[in-house]
Amino acid sequence: MPDQSARPNAGSDIKVFLCNARGMYLAQDANGLFFSNDRSVAIVLNYKSDRVEEQLDALRATHGIVLRADPVPVGEIYETCDRCKELFMPWMTYFDGQHFLCNDCRKLTAKKAKADAR
Ligand SMILES: [Zn+2]
Repeated sequence: MPDQSARPNAGSDIKVFLCNARGMYLAQDANGLFFSNDRSVAIVLNYKSDRVEEQLDALRATHGIVLRADPVPVGEIYETCDRCKELFMPWMTYFDGQHFLCNDCRKLTAKKAKADAR
């Protein structure tokens, strides 16, 4: 039996967007799923752990909807928090108009802003 762990990328997952036939990205907001040309709002899935291939096959079979998985460029996978310099998934960071902040730093700065206002 070949040793799977010997391969450098064995076990690593691929981040993907889902695109429809028109090249629009599957996105989600409070109202549910929709397609958008804006990739920054697109849902990012883990190709293997989210069973993307199976889900796409199921969509095609049950709804006749054909979507394709589009790999996320590596440089776009992570955002750096401007405060603590840690890497986070884009949906875990918050842009306050000037800085990208992770949830923790966002809370900290929000507290500080409140304290300063007193
Ligand atoms: Zn941070």
